[in-house]
Amino acid sequence: MPYAFNPSETVTVPVQGTSTSFPVRRIYCVGRNYTEHVREMGGDVERSEPTFFTKDASTIVQSDTEIPYPNNTQNLHYEVELVVAMGPDGVFGYGVGIDMTRRDLQAAAKKKGGPWDRAKNFKQSAPCSAITPAADADITGKRIVLRKNGEIVQSSSLDKMIWSVEEIIARLTYDMDLQAGDLIFTGTPEGVGPVVPGDELEGGIEGLAPIRVRFI
Ligand code: MN
Repeated sequence: MPYAFNPSETVTVPVQGTSTSFPVRRIYCVGRNYTEHVREMGGDVERSEPTFFTKDASTIVQSDTEIPYPNNTQNLHYEVELVVAMGPDGVFGYGVGIDMTRRDLQAAAKKKGGPWDRAKNFKQSAPCSAITPAADADITGKRIVLRKNGEIVQSSSLDKMIWSVEEIIARLTYDMDLQAGDLIFTGTPEGVGPVVPGDELEGGIEGLAPIRVRFI
């Protein structure tokens, strides 16, 4: 039966060093995965356990894009994160993502015990770099850095993740439906903060393609 209208196109991110692109299916995100970030958000480190939430594939923004400051927030925050890209045979590769967050809406949702969707899963909320194939990338103990207007605002090490990539994959496989094309944003270290129109963000992890976006 023909579609009533054209379906939306598959969202992609480039695969670094190739002429192919990675077709995105779902985006899973991990909350509370670095102790110092749990602390800065006023969380209880002793009882910390990663939280899972999702963003739609359509929220992806490729690198070197200008992003209009979103509606309905006075406190748009950056969270730089390692992105794990799942392929047909396990981990396909790695990237750098920025989990953009309407922090004011998140605080209100937390207060009411309601869902985080409006705080996290909004238009252009998931900037993501090109994916570096796993065979070309060693992420062990690598530094993760976010620069705002050239100045370092987040800096940590991937070995500070509370739950490792392997543990996150095992947990998502058990709890959810992890398939080829899924991206996992694995949580942010400390130093999250706001952006305003005119700000440029550059997220980097040594050995991986960076993500660069500018807010207008
Ligand atoms: Mn996050």
